[in-house]
Amino acid sequence: MKTNRRKFIRTTGLLALVGITGVETLFAASEKKTIRTSKKGLSLSFLPYDLQLRHTFTLANSSRNNTPDVLTRIEIDGVVGYGEASMPPYLGENIETATRFLTSLDLGQFKDPFQMDNILKYVDSVMPGNTAAKAAVDIALHDLVGKLMKQPWYKIWGFDPSDTPNTSFTIGIDTPEVVKQKVTEAAPFKILKVKLGLSTDRQMIETIRSVTDRPLCVDVNQGWTDRVKALEMIHWLKEKGVVFVEQPMPKTAIDDMAWLTQNSPLPTIADESCQRLPDVMKVHGVYNGINIKLMKCTGMREAHQMLTLARSLDMKVMIGCMTETSCAISAAAQLAPKADWADLDGNLLISNDPYSGMQIVDGKVTLVDKPGIGVKEVKQVF
Ligand code: MG
Repeated sequence: MKTNRRKFIRTTGLLALVGITGVETLFAASEKKTIRTSKKGLSLSFLPYDLQLRHTFTLANSSRNNTPDVLTRIEIDGVVGYGEASMPPYLGENIETATRFLTSLDLGQFKDPFQMDNILKYVDSVMPGNTAAKAAVDIALHDLVGKLMKQPWYKIWGFDPSDTPNTSFTIGIDTPEVVKQKVTEAAPFKILKVKLGLSTDRQMIETIRSVTDRPLCVDVNQGWTDRVKALEMIHWLKEKGVVFVEQPMPKTAIDDMAWLTQNSPLPTIADESCQRLPDVMKVHGVYNGINIKLMKCTGMREAHQMLTLARSLDMKVMIGCMTETSCAISAAAQLAPKADWADLDGNLLISNDPYSGMQIVDGKVTLVDKPGIGVKEVKQVF
């Protein structure tokens, strides 16, 4: 056992990252550092990391001050790719489920990181669900492969970085005073995303309109249940300068939603209704577009497939996010040149981002010409 451990430490070269005690507590309830690696092939390590939110974040059905997160690294021959799983509680994943999932993987069986199709099919097959934990592997693998190719993913995919849209900045549901303050803080952003779905919807919009005339988009998070009232509201929102409506009704209300889309003067976008690739076909004809998020769809590979399919169906595409570090945001941003809208502000909502990468310049998603997903560590946390 001791010899094995020594060999394991020597081969992985990760001793400096975790310390001997870290290795000894490999799968124990170590709260700070957990590591899973292999003597040969790809080596995966991960670290639970609590994202601290700058403001309490309120949606139609929940409110919180932090987001559980797991940072990942995949390494081969001294080259490291970074990844991340962000797990807002309402989506059902948490540190425990991600730890269980990541420790169940054996990436050491893969010696060629370029076999992404096989590797990610294996990762997806190990357990159902766990989409954020799967994304944490997918993103780190993409970062690693991009670094080995010495190219950023937007270039590998053949996208023009100057085609990126402006990103929206999210204004959560709050008191008029706090909403006004948030709108003021969001001055550099050319479009604001407003969370609706409570009885205060009109007040939220009026409050924002009292301080800015910038375009708005709204995210109802399934909060409206009456399609006639929803349509009335959408007409009113159009008058108020809203450009699209995200997930107005519950994901189960498919017929009502198809009716609403048919009659709506604004495009409707599926978020909760469209998680993974097969969902794109299901929401086609029910919504005008989809909101692709890496944490829902298992990462960059499936996100790219969803984008391609949605485009072929003439659907609108939005690239969204959870509260995340610059790691997952920069990964999602690689797809932004082909999106109609981007909502990539998740890293700006947290106060302890250990990475830097994609930047918002004058409100626009601005990709960096760096290999992989284009991030660097600004604070070493592993
Ligand atoms: Mg949404």
